[in-house]
Amino acid sequence: MEQTLVIIKPDAVNRALVGEVIKRFENKGLQIKAMKMHMLQPYALKDHYAHLKEKGFFEELVKYMSSIPSILMVLKGKEAIKVVRTMVGPTQGRDALPGTIRGDYSVSNQSNVVHASENKKAAKAEIERLFSKEEIFDYRKMNFDWIYSKDEKYIEKGGK
Ligand code: UDP
Ligand code: MG
Repeated sequence: MEQTLVIIKPDAVNRALVGEVIKRFENKGLQIKAMKMHMLQPYALKDHYAHLKEKGFFEELVKYMSSIPSILMVLKGKEAIKVVRTMVGPTQGRDALPGTIRGDYSVSNQSNVVHASENKKAAKAEIERLFSKEEIFDYRKMNFDWIYSKDEKYIEKGGK
């Protein structure tokens, strides 16, 4: 099973889309392992968006992301990183297909509602940066029995 970091960004919080976004991930069958409201700090965002630090929009991006609190989540599932990125859609909201979160709720390449980790390395680093161990909960999600088949081997050591 994989874990991935999702940020429901300040634009979504301000536009009252938090419940809508969470609902989509729950309906898909992903497990919520951690969730909190959090004011992202510029120093953390500079690490989080380090791959963009040379871009002209970088300072604006950091300002927007630290303007009001975001909702941070750790989601778990088989191939969760890919599953969540597919649900989120491409960066530019105007290019994102209807049915994706950005396609349904964004017409911007900055205010695009959600962040989702890009790959395993990023997911690990982002989760460690933004959550303590105590904030991430290990529990058995009972309906995984109906979300996955037995041959998908979704039960981990310790029955989780
Ligand atoms: N972004 C922006 N202008 C751009 C491209 C990206 O403001 O021209 C912002 C946007 O909020 C995006 C974030 O920077 O979600 C991170 O960019 P990345 O390329 O990692 O896209 P993502 O992984 O979020 O799709
Ligand atoms: Mg990215």
